[in-house]
Amino acid sequence: MHERRKTRQIQVGPVAVGGDAPVSVQSMTTTKTADVEGTLAQIYALAGAGADIVRCTCNEEEAAEGLAQIVPRSPVPLVADIHFQYKLALAAIEAGVQALRLNPGNIRKPEQIRTVAREAKDRSLPIRIGVNAGSLDPDIAERHGGATPEALVASAQRELAYFADVDFEDVKISVKASNVPVMIDAYRLLSETVDYPLHLGVTEAGPPPAGLVKSTAGIGTLLAEGIGDTIRFSLTADPVEEARAGRQLLEALGLRERKGLDLIACPSCGRAEVDVIRVAKDAQAALEDRKIPLQVAVMGCVVNGPGEARDADLGIAAGRGKGHLFVKGKVVRVVPEAEMVDALVAEAERIMEEGVEAVLASADAGAEAEAEATRDELLQIQGTDANDDAGKIERIREVAE
Ligand code: SF4
Repeated sequence: MHERRKTRQIQVGPVAVGGDAPVSVQSMTTTKTADVEGTLAQIYALAGAGADIVRCTCNEEEAAEGLAQIVPRSPVPLVADIHFQYKLALAAIEAGVQALRLNPGNIRKPEQIRTVAREAKDRSLPIRIGVNAGSLDPDIAERHGGATPEALVASAQRELAYFADVDFEDVKISVKASNVPVMIDAYRLLSETVDYPLHLGVTEAGPPPAGLVKSTAGIGTLLAEGIGDTIRFSLTADPVEEARAGRQLLEALGLRERKGLDLIACPSCGRAEVDVIRVAKDAQAALEDRKIPLQVAVMGCVVNGPGEARDADLGIAAGRGKGHLFVKGKVVRVVPEAEMVDALVAEAERIMEEGVEAVLASADAGAEAEAEATRDELLQIQGTDANDDAGKIERIREVAE
């Protein structure tokens, strides 16, 4: 991971974006904004799934009126999404939103842009310049031979120049494209050009799993390079999935503290002593239900499982009809296979209540020895221990001599 690039900091309501603020997660509602209760229900669901900031469309007067009722009841700051009609930006400001997103590709009259920026400045409201490859200013696209990274950055710079006319600098910028390499290059170029905070996203990424893969490839690559201050997965799915995926990506990269479960599981192989996919799914559902923020491993065999997942807080590995429960790599209990998931959940709850040390201290006498015996038994049947590197090398040398 590269060191995070230093950007200016702006405030979207109580959420700081840029500078040394944590990278934030955004998502967007799919309800009609005029439907106040429906939109609020979705905003709450998004906030629960990890969204720090939520965007709502403000595409008609009724939407702005809806926002006036939604903003005071929202658990997170709201951004009004504006296309084509600058007057709806002014209406959204009146409604009390904490930020605006303007698309420079479809609000193009300089005086209208300056009017919105002037009003935002008076109310200390930030604006995202939301450039989108699919709706780029036609003259810029023509000059650059299409929606190239240079064209996307040029569009943002033109908008910045209009803002500068009225001394408005409370800005974050996105240069989204559905083509992942174009998106990555556009953000790289932008980050070399300006020090405003950047909002990352692969636009129109599509439904999961391809949409998740594209978004993760684009956003994850840039974050690993230290670029990006706030992110949004644009999925053709329930937006709760967007918020969850955004949060999980940041947690996976170590950019946000883990809030929820981190279930790691082996991919299974010929050594598996249990249906790993089923056990992992059951364990995930049970642990997520209980909101347990631990790293939990589900491993298909006791031969390699506890060793390979020794860093997990807790895990279970199968062997000869039994589940071997391990904490920080040490086997603490052996249970019948049918009770694996229940035992895992019970042990996770104990760790949450009493801590890892207490659970390790009360390990069943003989559990470690029983696991070791099962491991040896399986090795006799199955052959090589995948963790035994020295043994492998010795055998390779014998064979190669
Ligand atoms: S833990 Fe065991 S079953 Fe799972 S992939 Fe590794 S060797 Fe195969």
